[in-house]
Amino acid sequence: MIKQISGNKTLKIGIIGTGAIGQDHIKRCANFLSGVEVVAVSDIDKKSAQNAISTYGLDAKAYESGNDLIQAKEVDAIIIASSGKTHAEYILSGIEAKKFIFCEKPLATTIEECQAIIEAEQTYGKRLVQVGFMRSYDRRYQELKKIIQDKKLGQILMIHAAHRNQESPENFTSEMVITDTLIHELDIFRWLLNDEFVTVSMIPIRKTSKAPKGLQDPQFALLETQSGIRINVELFVNCQYGYDIKCEIVGEEGVASLPAPAAVSICQHEKRYDQILANWQDWFLEAYNIEIQEFINECLVGKLQGPDAWRGYMATYVAEFCIESQKKGQEIAIPVLKCPDFYRSDNKIE
Ligand code: NAP
Repeated sequence: MIKQISGNKTLKIGIIGTGAIGQDHIKRCANFLSGVEVVAVSDIDKKSAQNAISTYGLDAKAYESGNDLIQAKEVDAIIIASSGKTHAEYILSGIEAKKFIFCEKPLATTIEECQAIIEAEQTYGKRLVQVGFMRSYDRRYQELKKIIQDKKLGQILMIHAAHRNQESPENFTSEMVITDTLIHELDIFRWLLNDEFVTVSMIPIRKTSKAPKGLQDPQFALLETQSGIRINVELFVNCQYGYDIKCEIVGEEGVASLPAPAAVSICQHEKRYDQILANWQDWFLEAYNIEIQEFINECLVGKLQGPDAWRGYMATYVAEFCIESQKKGQEIAIPVLKCPDFYRSDNKIE
């Protein structure tokens, strides 16, 4: 039996990984969200977990390992915010411990690991896993989805998108542009269009001198969906000027565009300008808060409804074909997989 938490007013949460997003989630749980208490923290570097506890004034225990935290009796639910390669092991332990799990993207880094997760969850027989695809909690994307669903643009023909980061970490690789960056688009376009990808071409573009050695930056991902929609995504992770996400949906009767976050406009020295945000934390701040608050609320009533493990699997699955295209320099066909009924009934992509 899953640990009985329905009826409780406070979800006792354990957070694994106290790097950038782990600390963000600790901060939002400690300061802004309701119905939650962070009672356990762990990181491969125990000092980092202890520092997070003191920085955010938590009444929490620092665990030696993620697995110890998962087993801890006081922990009702887990947030996994450690590096991608560690996700599968922690998710599988969490399912075995029958605890609700929120795992940052990616669900796992290989197709085999994703399959093991969806098999374990189905064997258990109830959804326990949610993936951190926060864009579907963003009001701007929700509005775009409604416009598409209400057929305001007629049939959708194509999407022009861009994912730009100010600068990439030194160790960022061309493959990570797919697994860490493009993966958000791979998920959000399935969700927006309720459609599956059938081909991908990864195209290198004239290299910027601002990228670390060995990194192909920028790149284009050209995707085609089952219904014939074409999507081009510019991936530019050293664009210098700020963090920027673009999405223009072109239909036969009109065009809808994702707005940037509102910013105060300044007039000075015969110029008008406004600020561009520098990081993803601020661009999607509200979406992250809603995503984690809804996860908390749903754990408390015992039914997860957010992005499921199938969505996580599909993003990693398509990413593998993108990597193949990047390596071979050619278009690659993507076989469409049938979604198991288990995931259809609980969490349809529409
Ligand atoms: P990060 O700053 O490197 O933090 C990851 C933390 O996990 C580091 O403190 C790392 O320690 C620790 N760690 C590594 N192996 C561990 C293990 N076996 N057990 C426990 N802790 C371990 O990375 P991040 O940017 O926060 O990203 C973390 C995850 O969130 C990644 O999967 C990333 O893709 C995802 N993410 C999602 C979004 C989003 O928009 N949804 C945004 C950012 C990140 P060391 O540094 O010592 O290795």
